[in-house]
Amino acid sequence: MTWPHKKSAGLDATQKRSLGKGVFRRCDGCGDTVPTETMHANFEVCAHCGQHHKLAAPRWRDLLLDDGRLEEWDAHLAPSDPLHFTDGKSYGDRILAAQKSSRATEAIEIGRARMSGTPVAYGAFLFAFMGGSMGSVVGEKITRLFERATDERLPVVLLQASGGARMQEGILSLMQMAKTVAALERLRSAGLPFVSVLLHPTTGGVAASFALLGDVNIAEPKALIGFAGARVIEQTIRQTLPEGFQRSEFLLAHGMIDRIVGRREMKQEIAQLVGHLMPSVGREPRSS
Ligand SMILES: [Zn+2]
Repeated sequence: MTWPHKKSAGLDATQKRSLGKGVFRRCDGCGDTVPTETMHANFEVCAHCGQHHKLAAPRWRDLLLDDGRLEEWDAHLAPSDPLHFTDGKSYGDRILAAQKSSRATEAIEIGRARMSGTPVAYGAFLFAFMGGSMGSVVGEKITRLFERATDERLPVVLLQASGGARMQEGILSLMQMAKTVAALERLRSAGLPFVSVLLHPTTGGVAASFALLGDVNIAEPKALIGFAGARVIEQTIRQTLPEGFQRSEFLLAHGMIDRIVGRREMKQEIAQLVGHLMPSVGREPRSS
């Protein structure tokens, strides 16, 4: 027998055409290969298995807000480096790199918007900016979100996605926990509702302060929500943790959160909750 010629005429490896980067992506849930465009159109939810992948802040606006419009508050607030912190790289350089890659000044956006016609004070963490960590600016913006909502008698809808306090700001970042919760208490005394939406992941100082203090705490399916990481807890209590520990479904079963809501139903669900919780015009706010 004769071997066929391996090299066929006219085939040139340099001319090999391949699809551009990012045309397809693999689902983290079922491993299926899905066109990126399809995933985008579906707000990063897998049509096969329902896996919720991370959704960027602009897409959350498109999903939840009327016309995708947010009238932003305090976008000018930018982080500083009062401790001159360095951990291999200076904090200042880390900020610049995060601002460049995320095209945002900080890890949260806040403002006034409408959801199904209802005016709301809206905030959303940008996980892409230093893991959505809470430094002085994030804490200040959340405080202002609650304070403005109190002044303007708006309900607050806040989307959480954070690795916790920002270690590069040391104690200043931990102080944000108390500051934000104090502002939230003033909102509560005014009888205005706070709907906390817990996305994957909501951990550390954010989970340990305002994130789990919503009048209603909603979580996305399979989101990781907790204070310390599972490994740290296992090492501390010397016990093996149960299956699904710190995931939305586990937390719902143990009374830590109120509802698990998929992305498709999220807008309607929040609008309905706000409708039920918002005191009607003219009615006296409830005393706390
Ligand atoms: Zn899938």
